[in-house]
Amino acid sequence: MTDHQRRMQRKKDVVDERISQATQERGVLILLKGNGKGKSSSAFGTMARSLGHGQRCAVIQFIKGRRETGEYLFFRDHPRLDWHIMGHGFTWETQDRERDIEAAEAAWAVAKGLLENPEYGLIVLDEMSYMFKYGYLDTAPVVEALQRRPAHQNVIITGRTMATPLQEIADTISIVQDERHAFRGGVKAQAGIEY
Ligand code: ATP
Ligand code: MG
Repeated sequence: MTDHQRRMQRKKDVVDERISQATQERGVLILLKGNGKGKSSSAFGTMARSLGHGQRCAVIQFIKGRRETGEYLFFRDHPRLDWHIMGHGFTWETQDRERDIEAAEAAWAVAKGLLENPEYGLIVLDEMSYMFKYGYLDTAPVVEALQRRPAHQNVIITGRTMATPLQEIADTISIVQDERHAFRGGVKAQAGIEY
């Protein structure tokens, strides 16, 4: 056996040992946070995996930016996918707190129904973190609904900053760090990359 083979064998033993210890089969709560680019697109990439395996999925967009994003246009007609966009435009454009709260509550009512439905394998709550940041939704009922959801159901929540109570119950948390972004180099937002 060469040195390389011995090193690789040791690596394989460590990985095999870890694999044998991961025995639970259940859905996970994933939080994708941070200031870098890649949170929502990662969530939709995971949704493609889930749909590919025949699961039923749903997206709830808590902040409506551009309606016609590429992922919406691509996924919206999929027979096993529901795509909900919260009532009206950007919070910082509307500047109407009461209306924002109403829209947030309506979106949450839809999300809550999905979190009770065992037919859904993956639910993406896109940009939901802002609802807690601005005080449009309380975390307690959301944490409760997440904890009571069907055992096999996966949930992904995206947003730049995450509420602590959600972090406490999450299984996976990834921080997408902003090291550089083309926008600051003067590049316009472009179809297929930004939306
Ligand atoms: P994406 O949808 O591309 O995965 P995201 O979900 O990580 O991005 P958001 O905070 O939701 O990021 O912002 C959405 C939009 O802002 C996208 O068009 C994205 O390209 C852009 N964006 C994300 N991060 C940055 C950044 N650090 N500077 C400038 N623009 C950004
Ligand atoms: Mg996003």
